[in-house]
Amino acid sequence: MSIMFEKVALLGLGLIGSSICHGIRAKGLARHISGHARSAETRAVALEIKLVDDVHVHAADAVKDADLVILCAPVGACAALAKEIGPHLKAGAIVTDVGSVKGAIARDCGPFIPQNVHFIPGHPVAGTEQSGPRAGFAELFHGRWCILTPLPGADSAAVAKLTQFWEGLGSMVDTMEVGHHDLVLAITSHLPHLIAYNTVATAADLETVTDSEVIKYSASGFRDFTRIAASDPTMWRDVFLNNKEAVLEMLGRFSEELAVLQRAVRWGDGDTLFNLFTRAREVRRGIIAAGQDTAAPDFGRGHKPK
Ligand code: NAP
Repeated sequence: MSIMFEKVALLGLGLIGSSICHGIRAKGLARHISGHARSAETRAVALEIKLVDDVHVHAADAVKDADLVILCAPVGACAALAKEIGPHLKAGAIVTDVGSVKGAIARDCGPFIPQNVHFIPGHPVAGTEQSGPRAGFAELFHGRWCILTPLPGADSAAVAKLTQFWEGLGSMVDTMEVGHHDLVLAITSHLPHLIAYNTVATAADLETVTDSEVIKYSASGFRDFTRIAASDPTMWRDVFLNNKEAVLEMLGRFSEELAVLQRAVRWGDGDTLFNLFTRAREVRRGIIAAGQDTAAPDFGRGHKPK
């Protein structure tokens, strides 16, 4: 692909930021990449492994003359970054983000972005439980959805350019309204993480099951939960602080369904259990048919979906 942006600035150089860097390099989407991260250690690694061409202590310096600015920090850190960079953005630039929650980003960052800059929140629905600047890889976005949530009155040419950028990184792109995004992700991503954190914490708290037994006999169910529960605590704290209403709505529905299952187990209602499990299995088949995972058995051996 040809160069789309002369200069891209990435604020936050963890799993997602570094994966974008690798993707930009692999496809030649930008001539120059500037970076900013909070810690000196991350900034040093970013230079060492050539994620970026230059790295800055201050976000305001990284965005100077940038045509595309991507906020890649935890959701709760983005408003302060937007406030800092607002006065330093180039007229006509595109500012976007990768946060897992979109309503709070639009609400808290939007007011700091000047009128002559295109602010288009976004969310690549791709990730692993790893974090930090060494965790990224160019293929992270291949075949994965990236959801853009343009705000009312967004410039269609800027949305089209950002769409093309994510397609260049290998994503499929969809657009939706911020509130709808937050409801969808509450059930597909946020609630599963909450359940995984709770399941692992419950097992770890059980006095009758020693830690070593939990580890030694971890069947694939528990092991899969521990993988999800190994995700970055800062990122996930910010997700739940910033998508409260949608998560509580989905948690309410989940609790009702759980009560139905509890009742079926208590009364030996095999039909209810069988029917629900059958419906759930169909969902899994649908995900594989849509190319969002493979049917290969995964016993924690680290194969990546194509
Ligand atoms: P990560 O690997 O933990 O990296 C976070 C980066 O943000 C680090 O470079 C960190 O700097 C920097 N940072 C943290 N607080 C900051 C602050 N106050 N000011 C400036 N920089 C700060 O996280 P990630 O997985 O890339 O997640 C980044 C964003 O992507 C989050 O908003 C998350 O919701 C979203 N997201 C994540 C996934 C996923 O699966 N991980 C998927 C889709 C979207 P230091 O290294 O110096 O601390």
